[in-house]
Amino acid sequence: MKILILNEGFEKQGHIEKRCAVSVSSVKRMVKRGITVVVQQGAGALSGYPDEAFIEAGGTVQQNCDADLQDADILLCVNRPDESVYTLLKAQALVIGHIDPFFQKQAVEAMAKRRLTTLSVEMIPRSSRAQKMDALSSQASLAGYVMVMQAANHLPSILPMMMTPSGTIKPAKVFIIGAGVAGLQAIATAKRLGANVTAYDTRDVVAEQVESLGGKFLKIDIGETGQTKDGYAKELTDEQKQKQQDAQRDAIADSDIVITTAQLFGRRPPQLISKETLALMRPGSVVMDMAATSGGNVEGSVPGQVATVNGVTVIGYGNWSQFVAKDATDMYANNLYNLLDEFYDDESAQFTLNMDDEILAGCVITHDGEITNGMLKQAYQGV
Ligand code: NAD
Repeated sequence: MKILILNEGFEKQGHIEKRCAVSVSSVKRMVKRGITVVVQQGAGALSGYPDEAFIEAGGTVQQNCDADLQDADILLCVNRPDESVYTLLKAQALVIGHIDPFFQKQAVEAMAKRRLTTLSVEMIPRSSRAQKMDALSSQASLAGYVMVMQAANHLPSILPMMMTPSGTIKPAKVFIIGAGVAGLQAIATAKRLGANVTAYDTRDVVAEQVESLGGKFLKIDIGETGQTKDGYAKELTDEQKQKQQDAQRDAIADSDIVITTAQLFGRRPPQLISKETLALMRPGSVVMDMAATSGGNVEGSVPGQVATVNGVTVIGYGNWSQFVAKDATDMYANNLYNLLDEFYDDESAQFTLNMDDEILAGCVITHDGEITNGMLKQAYQGV
């Protein structure tokens, strides 16, 4: 079996991917299983893995991978490959990466038509068995950490309390909206830096987790909210959204840093903070919009940029985990190796595509010329 990893570190729509789909350790483990691993030159350069390290690990490194694209069994990616790449792959080749399937209908249909088997890591079920393959979680944990560090960098004050002969500095107030994987990691990071942390989530089951990290949970009564069977938040009604925004206003106005991490699986993220509310914050305060590049939680945030809105610094970088590209690569490469490990059969040297398996049934989105995921088919029909 041959696995190919291309160099994704080129500018694409104003963004350079710094992560790589393999680490030296994951290449070593694949080679040990008898798998041929071909890595395109420079693929690990931005995440701390030089070509020589992949060669030492038993991989092959080459600049031009056109021939490998035609006979690779699996293409491991960070992001969805371009048409110019996936049209070169042989039919039935397996493509694994962040496909962003809900918002890339055309590309997914084209990949199905090419008879590729596409595995979207975003669709890996959030189950105990799949935890070690869960790339959404690994990258979101790092994102939570990065958002706090970036906010601290932009804030003109410090986070911890400091008592000195020159005066006493009060701890910064941090408000975190959305206490999923990223939000909880942000709470833990801000607490470690000595800030006072408050958080809110529409899923009140997370209150206990917030408190166990030393944060205060802001209670807002917006009526029935709940979560889907997979643990994702349900979309609020317009009335509930208004209630949430009204109740959050004071907490936001009183905060030095606000971090929004609210997402709705398969949909655009909810808008949580208006420009009017931003205007209530002290000048120099910092708002981190985790969702800026996918629609935005904060009015006025600019995808990929730092903006100043009513005197407040609003940061909308996106692709947060790649600020720590080495760790992001290591975790992602482990996720992909664990996925291979779960389904690779050493005897036949094949990836066993058992579509009755609940993990593969969830995350394989195209196979044999068809879109195979029911949730996605429904979304594409606009149901
Ligand atoms: P997510 O990225 O979809 O959303 C982030 C958070 O935003 C969520 O906690 C969500 O409730 C919250 N949110 C949505 N709308 C909001 C609003 N209007 N206001 C405030 N908050 C809002 O979530 P996630 O971090 O990917 O986690 C999703 C679920 O999956 C959670 O229940 C989590 O515990 C679960 N999970 C399970 C596993 C596992 O069992 N292996 C692994 C990871 C996550």
